Amino acid sequence: MTEKAAKPRIVILGGGIAGIRAARKLANEAVDVLIIDHNNYQVFQPLLYQVATSMLSADEVIYPIRSFFRSASNVNFLLAEIEGIDAAAQTVRTDQGDIGYDHLIIALGSTPNFFGSKSIEENSLPLKTLVDSIEIRSHVLKVFEEASRETDAAKRKALLTFVFVGAGPIGVEGSGGLSELIYDVFQKEYHTIDFSEVEIHLIGADPGVLMMMPEKLRDETVRVLEKKKVAVQCSMMVTDYDGETLRYKPFSAPKDAPLQEIKTRTVVWAAGVRPVDCLDGLDVQKDRGRRIIVDDTMHAIGFENVYAAGDCSSFTPPEDERPLPTLAPVALAEGDVAAANILHKLKGEPLEHLDYKSKGVMAIIGNSEAVMSAGPLVGRGFLAWSAWLWIHLLTKAGFHANVSVTFKWFFNYLFGTRLGRMITR
Ligand SMILES: Cc1cc2nc3c(=O)[nH]c(=O)nc-3n(C[C@H](O)[C@H](O)[C@H](O)COP(=O)(O)OP(=O)(O)OC[C@H]3O[C@@H](n4cnc5c(N)ncnc54)[C@H](O)[C@@H]3O)c2cc1C
Repeated sequence: MTEKAAKPRIVILGGGIAGIRAARKLANEAVDVLIIDHNNYQVFQPLLYQVATSMLSADEVIYPIRSFFRSASNVNFLLAEIEGIDAAAQTVRTDQGDIGYDHLIIALGSTPNFFGSKSIEENSLPLKTLVDSIEIRSHVLKVFEEASRETDAAKRKALLTFVFVGAGPIGVEGSGGLSELIYDVFQKEYHTIDFSEVEIHLIGADPGVLMMMPEKLRDETVRVLEKKKVAVQCSMMVTDYDGETLRYKPFSAPKDAPLQEIKTRTVVWAAGVRPVDCLDGLDVQKDRGRRIIVDDTMHAIGFENVYAAGDCSSFTPPEDERPLPTLAPVALAEGDVAAANILHKLKGEPLEHLDYKSKGVMAIIGNSEAVMSAGPLVGRGFLAWSAWLWIHLLTKAGFHANVSVTFKWFFNYLFGTRLGRMITR
């Protein structure tokens, strides 16, 4: 497995947004490319909450990695778990053996951050992978089935109480989507449940929801969520969750203040991400969040042939104090620059420099409800919602799936259909 090919060998770790963008740039060039991922598909994470809330099916939010490269015989794929990287030996350690490289692009994304709480890690439901979204879908459907036959009032109340922790886009989109599933669909079908017993909470650590949005859009988001019967609480520190009771308190509360409690069987954890564990042993410069520090050519500092792109990398533009956010457009731009610079280097050309300009941010809150902000332009309601749908459809890979996604969105808009309601776990 460590034998070197005649052409320079580029190994890309991770077939996500950044990794696939880099590989597409290297397709049909005079290099051998190997993508390594433990999944054989790329996930379009912005639509995962729609799988979790039964709007879309799992196959509609992924694209098989090999299908991207049907007409690029220089790009190959290895299904493997990456265990570590030895930059000095130019080797990647995987459960399928060691893989040597000439140039390495690390695009391993991120994993949920439970901030050291074992109880939260063991008992909450993260929303990060395709499997997570299927897990949440099954869990929500199961607790409703259980609630429909539960005669003990306290147990039924806990089954019908849902908490999202993290008031960024994932928490807002997830709680808004769940509210529609419950009140627009389940309420017509679960005839033995009293829906006044249902509670949906969104709890965040920041002083507001969607902190990257201007204040008036944040207020609008809270207004829409409250209309959807989602109770929003900000500036809260969640301390633990044992599977029955979630405990939390305001950041401003004295140390010995009693904790607030919510009895619930469902906590969706969307409170932050951190780099994946297999990067722990990699001896490169990292920021406080353990992301790999890169310069504007996407090189890991001090390494000539190691690049990092996407969520696992940390690039702080000279005019900013904070690194670029962990967002898909950033991952795309960084994957592009990393691959371009490998080609430039091989051809003896000057390197490219990342010049990322945010085109804006948006979040969907529910049917016909979204918020978007791009420089001085702000939008909300139906217009922002339509823009969100189109932009996500155009960015997502897979023509066939996109046709069925369009149909499903259309029928959901008209009739509130959520037919993907399968309990699979
Ligand atoms: C629920 C959700 C909603 C989001 N919504 C938005 C949005 O609306 N707009 C937006 O801009 N961004 C959004 N994001 C963020 C965006 O999806 C990420 O910033 C983007 O996917 C990062 O791309 P990446 O290539 O760095 O990582 P990823 O796309 O996560 O790819 C990483 C790849 O590495 C692989 N991998 C990881 N560890 C290993 C290992 N040990 N062995 C083998 N393979 C491994 C994974 O399988 C994966 O394929 C969302 C994220 C989530 C979770």
